[in-house]
Amino acid sequence: SDAGPQGGRVVTEEEWLQKWETGNIRFHKEQGHPLLQKHLDVLLNGRSGLRIFFPLCGKAVEMKWLADMGHSVVGVEISEQALKEFFSEHGLPYCEEPVPEISGGKMFQSISGNISLYCCSIYDLSSSVVGKFDGVWDRGALVAVNPRDRQRYASLMTSLMEKNSSYLLVTVSYDPNKHKGPPFYVPESEVKSLFG
Ligand code: SAH
Repeated sequence: SDAGPQGGRVVTEEEWLQKWETGNIRFHKEQGHPLLQKHLDVLLNGRSGLRIFFPLCGKAVEMKWLADMGHSVVGVEISEQALKEFFSEHGLPYCEEPVPEISGGKMFQSISGNISLYCCSIYDLSSSVVGKFDGVWDRGALVAVNPRDRQRYASLMTSLMEKNSSYLLVTVSYDPNKHKGPPFYVPESEVKSLFG
């Protein structure tokens, strides 16, 4: 079909939560991602004290890296277990509060205040709730979104970006006939049509 071999594939929120419950999280990189280290200057562009967004954050250790550099980190993740594991694995005390604008939404914030992780679906967020960002680290996010939701995801991400923000995106390349995803195959031509 026009949507490609993976176009109709859907991974439900329940399936993601189950991956966390059963420890089926091979996407998690305990040592962090080498491509962020390599291209950090593209993300930061000489700026300090940035607001950096981690969509579909899991318990990505890069959040700790950037917070330690003095940036303010905001993430969103449907699995509360993932967020609690993030704080406990880094020995970071945190507090938890409801998010009035989002039904059932919670926010977990480090006591030092520079890491705020929303537990809800990314589609519940808007700039009126989380503000706008100077930088985005998108690894395991666009490629994890169900193919049918990509346009909605890209429009939302664009709406969360400040004028001069930078967006580092990691995609994967493989034959989509041989693996059903996630991660889904998102070719460069599609990245261009999604983000312009
Ligand atoms: N970016 C992380 C995690 C990648 S896996 C990393 O690099 O390790 C994708 C994550 O997205 C999973 O943890 C899953 O629970 C979460 N997720 C899936 N759909 C979501 C949604 N609609 N909103 C928020 N998080 C979601």
